[in-house]
Amino acid sequence: MLAARIKQANFPIHKDLDTYDFAAMPSLSKPKILELARGDWLEQRANVIFVGQPGTGKTHLATALGLAACRLGQRVRFFTAANLVQRLEEAQKQYQLDRFLNQLDRAQLLVCDELGYLSFSRAGAELLFQVFADRYERKSLLITSNLAFSDWGQVFQGERMTAALLDRLTHRCHIFEMNGESYRFRESMRTRKGKGGKDKAVDKETAKNEDE
Ligand code: ADP
Ligand code: MG
Repeated sequence: MLAARIKQANFPIHKDLDTYDFAAMPSLSKPKILELARGDWLEQRANVIFVGQPGTGKTHLATALGLAACRLGQRVRFFTAANLVQRLEEAQKQYQLDRFLNQLDRAQLLVCDELGYLSFSRAGAELLFQVFADRYERKSLLITSNLAFSDWGQVFQGERMTAALLDRLTHRCHIFEMNGESYRFRESMRTRKGKGGKDKAVDKETAKNEDE
């Protein structure tokens, strides 16, 4: 049942594509996002990564694509990176790691939001690495991060582990760089402008979008 799948996915908030304003992120390819919503990438066991500053809509899009996957009948699990690592560490402590890993493995799509906001212990980073690496070419991952790939070493501690991970992760991957202004910030500026404020319009658009 769809409602049950959505509940199990544990999205932090209900955000869908119909409320995503593509005009606010002109360099993000709307056709590409709509194509991802059709789910072929899940069949191909490909990954999606949204990289960009806070407020650029990464969580919104991750949730929308997760919802789309649910509607296609796929199992989805949504975690923040910090939460996922915490759950992995707890499971390990309680000798339940295999059980938890199996649960994760049942999801066709694992969403890992906010990678890079917090760094992990070495053990935590290794557990996350294990989850990501295990999914390679078997199941899809959707990751959002504020960090450029060159800075992922900070999260995964160690250039070798990071290089090995990025090699797998980006092998079959749709990467979207969203480096425009924060949508929240833009909206608040627009509201102030509307009220007669003299703020300059925030129209700097530097977002880039890359595929492959
Ligand atoms: P991020 O995860 O990149 O920090 P969010 O997805 O949380 O950003 O977006 C911040 C807020 O702005 C959310 O309420 C989100 O729904 C909204 N938002 C961001 N970009 C857009 C957009 N292009 N259209 C509509 N709402 C947006
Ligand atoms: Mg977010």
